[in-house]
Amino acid sequence: MAKSIVIIGAGIAGLSAGCYAQMNGYSTKIFEMHDKPGGLCTAWQRKGYNIDGCLHWFVGSAPGLGLYDIWRELGVLQGQNVVNMEQFYRIEDSKGKVFNVFCNIDRLEQHMKELAPEDDRFIGECTGAMRRFTRFYMPADKAPELYSPFDGLKLLLKMFPFFGALRKWGRMTMDDFGMHFKNPLLRNAWQSIWFPEFSSIFMLITIAYLHNKQAGYILGGSTKISQAIEKRYLQLGGEISYKSRVDKILVENDRAVGVRLADGSEHRAYYVVSAADGHATIYDMLDSKYNNDKIRAYYEKFPIFPPLVYIGLGVNRSFNDFPQIVSGLILSLEKPVTIAGEERKSLSVRIHNFDPTLAPAGRTLLTVLITSNYPYWKSLREDISRYKEEKERIADAVVSLLDKRFPGLAAQVEMRDVATPVTFHRYTGNWQGSFEGWLMTPQTVTLNMSKTLPGLDCFYMAGQWVQPGGGLPSGAMTGRYVTQMICKRDKKRFVAMTP
Ligand SMILES: Cc1cc2nc3c(=O)[nH]c(=O)nc-3n(C[C@H](O)[C@H](O)[C@H](O)COP(=O)(O)OP(=O)(O)OC[C@H]3O[C@@H](n4cnc5c(N)ncnc54)[C@H](O)[C@@H]3O)c2cc1C
Repeated sequence: MAKSIVIIGAGIAGLSAGCYAQMNGYSTKIFEMHDKPGGLCTAWQRKGYNIDGCLHWFVGSAPGLGLYDIWRELGVLQGQNVVNMEQFYRIEDSKGKVFNVFCNIDRLEQHMKELAPEDDRFIGECTGAMRRFTRFYMPADKAPELYSPFDGLKLLLKMFPFFGALRKWGRMTMDDFGMHFKNPLLRNAWQSIWFPEFSSIFMLITIAYLHNKQAGYILGGSTKISQAIEKRYLQLGGEISYKSRVDKILVENDRAVGVRLADGSEHRAYYVVSAADGHATIYDMLDSKYNNDKIRAYYEKFPIFPPLVYIGLGVNRSFNDFPQIVSGLILSLEKPVTIAGEERKSLSVRIHNFDPTLAPAGRTLLTVLITSNYPYWKSLREDISRYKEEKERIADAVVSLLDKRFPGLAAQVEMRDVATPVTFHRYTGNWQGSFEGWLMTPQTVTLNMSKTLPGLDCFYMAGQWVQPGGGLPSGAMTGRYVTQMICKRDKKRFVAMTP
């Protein structure tokens, strides 16, 4: 009889673990607290608009990366329309100067050299690194825990040509990267694009993938991805129970034997995989009984992707005359404004004119991402009317700022929706409302986090809390990895198939 696995969470990691476990003859059931699949990879409907809550770029959208094969095994890429845009970002300073971060590296280099001839040398260096990373091999097929010495040697040989670049750019934060530019437009732009403590290597590799057209946008957005993996999982014979919050992981003699749901029901299995939030898994579902100093230090010291105030605007305007941009427009503000208790010098808006499925005909979805902090919103939500007022105030401020850049926009807004860090926490359980788990910093860039917990048998963890940098690839990969680890333990050859 097939061994059983209970999986906590139907985000990308939980669904991936479920698919691969089903392919390998296990009988699995996923318990998901929400009423739909996807976790953070989600969207919500408001007044005819589909507010996409995740997808910017999808690494592995075209052949050449191991991830492409994984997404096909998970049934995600078949039949999808992939859009590859020409621009990654557009940055406008308060005096109207524009820096376009083109996805094509040659075009980007030429544009930067025109804007900042004084930075010729560093521009050559960083675009050289981007070009080098277009040939970068990202290991994805096998759990690092299962590497034999021979696998290690093979990897070493593949990675050898990149060692110097990996070390140099891996150690350089985005803040330092920006500081290398003498030109203020480029310096401020690179410093504002991502988080200052972020390792610049992540950005260089992302541009390399965009250049290669291996990180496209899936038309229809996040739900297309989540629904495709859910479909694949159900077709493989997996079961999902929605609106089923797991409260505790059941343990007997230091062995995970199942889960207890919020309704009190217990569900036993041979293995338990948690693809839910890491902090909740370790500290709440297991009451911190299977923890150690190393894990505690992660949760005390490592920076996380901050939570977001996420504003969706439905605008009766086509934006056909505006370029299609992967991550959107960053506007430097003439005067700083205070939003959610913090002073802001810029505003980042994404104009979803590349995806007509997200808005009624002739209209456009806009999303504005503002990083924020969880305690601010948690305490505000204790007084629901103040919480709602603050959301309204933020929407007013954002609309008025955008109206200055796009005159007439305020009158064209017909839908406003504000999600806060508390919303993210409520719907996905992610610690502090984080939107992608551990930040990839020089400290975490090469860290291989354990997918098991000390002293607990038959238990595995998958998802963004066991792979710094997070993202959809980490979900797909770690779901596959834990299945490989389970197969290895059961002395079974891991198999994967493409539908
Ligand atoms: C605004 C935004 C933009 C992003 N852009 C990109 C992008 O362009 N490209 C990219 O690759 N990534 C992007 N990401 C990141 C990506 O969405 C996440 O890293 C990824 O989806 C995480 O998947 P996961 O399965 O590890 O975790 P999650 O998505 O958090 O899934 C965990 C699941 O577990 C469930 N759960 C939690 N607790 C319990 C419980 N107690 N009982 C039952 N179920 C539970 C949750 O409801 C959830 O469904 C973005 C994220 C956001 C928010």
